Amino acid sequence: MKIRGDHAVVLGASMGGLLAARVLADFYERVTLVERDTLPTGPENRRGVPQGRLIHVIQARGISILEELFPGFVAELTGMGVECWDDGDLSKLHLSVGGHQLLRSGIAPDAPVVLLPSRPLLEWSVRQRVKAIPNVTFLEGHDVLGLMTTPDLARITGARVAGRAEDHETTVTADLVVDATGRGSRTPVFLEQLGYGRPAEDELVVQLAYACQLLRSTSNAVREHLIALFPEPGRPKMFGFVRYENDTCMLAVGTMAGAEPPSRLVDMLDYAADFAPPHVLDAVRDAEIIGGVVHHRVPSNRWRRYDKMRRLPDGLLVVGDAVCSFNPIYGQGMTVAAIEATVLRDCLRQGGDGLPRRFFRASAKKIRVAWQTAVGSDLALPEVAGPRPISMRISNAFVERVSIATEVDPVVAGQFMRVTTMVDPPGRLLRPSILLRVMRAQRRRPAPTPPEAGRHRSEETEERGTQLSNQNIELTKRGYEAFGAGDLEAALSLFDDSAEWTVNGESAIGGTYRGKTELAELFMRLAEKSTQVETKQFLADGNFVMVTTEVTAGGETAPEADVFELRDGKVVRAHSFGDTAMQERVFGSKRVAAG
Ligand SMILES: Cc1cc2nc3c(=O)[nH]c(=O)nc-3n(C[C@H](O)[C@H](O)[C@H](O)COP(=O)(O)OP(=O)(O)OC[C@H]3O[C@@H](n4cnc5c(N)ncnc54)[C@H](O)[C@@H]3O)c2cc1C
Repeated sequence: MKIRGDHAVVLGASMGGLLAARVLADFYERVTLVERDTLPTGPENRRGVPQGRLIHVIQARGISILEELFPGFVAELTGMGVECWDDGDLSKLHLSVGGHQLLRSGIAPDAPVVLLPSRPLLEWSVRQRVKAIPNVTFLEGHDVLGLMTTPDLARITGARVAGRAEDHETTVTADLVVDATGRGSRTPVFLEQLGYGRPAEDELVVQLAYACQLLRSTSNAVREHLIALFPEPGRPKMFGFVRYENDTCMLAVGTMAGAEPPSRLVDMLDYAADFAPPHVLDAVRDAEIIGGVVHHRVPSNRWRRYDKMRRLPDGLLVVGDAVCSFNPIYGQGMTVAAIEATVLRDCLRQGGDGLPRRFFRASAKKIRVAWQTAVGSDLALPEVAGPRPISMRISNAFVERVSIATEVDPVVAGQFMRVTTMVDPPGRLLRPSILLRVMRAQRRRPAPTPPEAGRHRSEETEERGTQLSNQNIELTKRGYEAFGAGDLEAALSLFDDSAEWTVNGESAIGGTYRGKTELAELFMRLAEKSTQVETKQFLADGNFVMVTTEVTAGGETAPEADVFELRDGKVVRAHSFGDTAMQERVFGSKRVAAG
């Protein structure tokens, strides 16, 4: 590995900082982790990570990165009694997303491997591995007070720190400083003081409040490794139960949109009584209680957009929750921190020049995937206030259909889990084989109408739905044919006057086109690159038509999926999920185009 500098300093030694340090150790002669806590020698909670006392689940992608960075890590964890779901047996999980309960029987093929260590054990195991790296040292019990710069303020040269015991300030010089001090990071303030301004913030207020209770139980009354009942429209409450190592387990209940969570264990059980599985509540009543009920509040999802800053000093990176902290119920934070560590490694492999800009841009692409999942899921709840752009409404409508399919189809359930555990990108749900199953599952799902209202009525509805769907498919087909024949006017005539079309990605054609004038502009830009669209499959469900296609433009070909929403025989919304990297190559990047 090529050395990029003498000394890298990482501020904060929680998951984000530890994983950054692991990667930096390959590229710098020395790495120092500065941490305000005196770190426990065993798997214990500590003050600087108060969330460690609450329910934590690391996603399968996070675990696979840990295994990559620390070979043998998975075996080590399972050797310490950590529960592992690796056989796809759906009866051992109980997940409910948006009111749709994932199938509870059968085997999900190609399911992700889910490991369930408690947070203190996970962090301690990673810390032990990082401590064993010869060129990494820990400066514990030290508070970071500020950053140091060159006289022209163009480069960060280290950090000012103060030992908690000695109470005097010292400096740590470095070629690279990485801020991993979590959600409370002061880098925005430091940057403002240095004249760079603060990063813009994307924020969605969720007013999440949790209550968790750690327990010990040797009973096997609960077979499930993990129970996660996420909030659903009309019920912004959640329930979680995880079996951790050494017969420990954790119960969690939570609320969103500002409601108060219960404060005592007995109230937690009452609170969940009408939606949580009774056998789990019974098991909790019989379990040994470890410590008290722990509470925590998370006001919002917050993403600090360092990737969008016009000016940045050299020699400074920010990772983990300090950049983006998510609504934690989706369990993404540690995995995103792990993904960022791999991005950092890839950026350092390419060289040391312009590292901050390259890192922030590359990591933003990864963060965006998790951000859209969290914010999209939160905004699927009417109780959460916030703008719901058309692209989100379409993807939420699609996720709703996929979730319905996960109730009955183990293949869709397995693929859905691979996406939610961040092993696969969301686009994998748009593969024709999955789309077909999603469409079929809508019919297999039991009709919600009461029996006396009659078979007759539901059959009638289905028939009408099918007829309409077929008409919608015909109309959509005509649109593709017109576009293929170069008759843009005919293609446009199928759209409502206020129709919107969103093209995913950061390419020059990415974005939302509103009204026929802008749609015409999109078609023209596609035509300029001799874009040809070969349709593969048309799948209709009510007002929605999904079309899988193969798009050729600028000499390249890639699969794409287009989703159309139709009303009264006109397309009112469309969304294209294409190969965004190819689009950037062929049409150019939006950022470059914007200058
Ligand atoms: C209630 C809750 C539940 C969560 N559940 C999950 C989950 O299930 N799955 C998941 O993946 N993620 C979860 N997360 C998120 C997860 O905890 C974080 O994403 C993860 O810890 C990575 O964060 P980090 O290392 O960037 O920051 P943090 O974990 O916040 O660590 C910051 C570190 O910096 C140190 N520090 C701070 N300021 C200073 C200073 N001035 N000087 C020196 N040191 C300093 C702190 O002591 C600490 O060690 C949850 C978060 C919360 C709040």
